[in-house]
Amino acid sequence: MNVNTKIFLGLLLALAAVTCLVPMSMAQGVSDQNASAKNVILLIGDGMGFPQLTLARIDKAGENLTEYGPSKLFMDSMDRTGYVRTYSSNSFVTDSAPAATAMATGQKTNNGVLSQDATAIQGKRDGKNLTTILEMARFAGLSTGVITTTRITHATPAAFYAHVDNRDNESEIADQLLMSNVDVILGGGLQYFIGKNETDPTGKAGKRADERNLIKDFESEGYVFVYNGTAFHKVDANDTKKLIGLFESSHMQYELERQQSQEKDPSLAEMTKKAIEIVSANPKGFFLMVEGGRIDHAGHERNLSKIIEDTLAFDDAVKVAINFAHLRNDTLVIVTADHECGGLVLQPENLQEYESGGIDPIFASGTTKTPGPRYDFITEMEEATHTGVDVPIMATGPGAEKVSRGMLDNTQIFSIIKEALGL
Ligand SMILES: [Zn+2]
Repeated sequence: MNVNTKIFLGLLLALAAVTCLVPMSMAQGVSDQNASAKNVILLIGDGMGFPQLTLARIDKAGENLTEYGPSKLFMDSMDRTGYVRTYSSNSFVTDSAPAATAMATGQKTNNGVLSQDATAIQGKRDGKNLTTILEMARFAGLSTGVITTTRITHATPAAFYAHVDNRDNESEIADQLLMSNVDVILGGGLQYFIGKNETDPTGKAGKRADERNLIKDFESEGYVFVYNGTAFHKVDANDTKKLIGLFESSHMQYELERQQSQEKDPSLAEMTKKAIEIVSANPKGFFLMVEGGRIDHAGHERNLSKIIEDTLAFDDAVKVAINFAHLRNDTLVIVTADHECGGLVLQPENLQEYESGGIDPIFASGTTKTPGPRYDFITEMEEATHTGVDVPIMATGPGAEKVSRGMLDNTQIFSIIKEALGL
């Protein structure tokens, strides 16, 4: 049997498996059609394309891998699945800013722009501010939260609460976070909350030119502020309405580093659990965005171990959300990505490796042709880039069925959440 025949037979088997699964989930009597949700948890794996999922799944199998493919991530158990195209207004290859804007507002915008329409040009011209799903939820009296492993002012979380023509204006984004009245704020990025002549509680210098101390402002607005794992774990969710936890000067640690560190930052799963405990106290419901933000950074670095550990840590956060949702019938959980990063390819290195079932992951986008009139120079790039491929989406709970009605555009994620919450 040659390689192509094997691939063809594999595809046929996969197709047969998918065909069997569809009626199975229908037969479960899932009441997710046109149903309304009280709560929505949107989990975004930044840079988490299909190959990153496959890689994490293979690693999770570890030594228990007796056959090729039996291991599953928690997100693989979600009953509705689909795929999403990710292009932005001015590129087939998006960055996190317009991708998160599409999910947050239902509209495409240009690369680098956060929740302004496509008349905005990054760093040059403001566009019209677009109302985000988080703002709509808050106006309707729901509780809200944003959680990430990156700086809280980084593009993905920022698109849900800020409106700027340039994702790099992180001091201004922090100002807008203070104005946004988000109830639970967890992530990294202390540097944009402290003046450049001040040091933050972790001992690092701030970056704000205006010397404002936003932490004091948050505290006077009634927020509990924590900056390390010990204080975070002591926060009593029953007694806390507003929480801001900023655990690093810049991004939070990669999961691989976090596991090895003495004074551990909270994990993404622990932050998700605490946030749910706080925002679920609101009888009107909540909207919570959770980002596994460093899967993307690991992809840029072309670091396979970091991709695996951050994807598995993200999957643990998905498990927390699913466990909450499955105890009730009023919570829509959506898991997706903003774009793929790295052009990760899971390929056999040679035919022998193929025969023995091994893989040799590589980053295709680390090597590129230098743009020019002749396109004939191959350059090894230090960093891998984002790619324009489609990304996965999975969902469970009221409204989940809508993710499996054929190809989705990332803007439709906004509509699915809006409809589910009846906003
Ligand atoms: Zn990126």
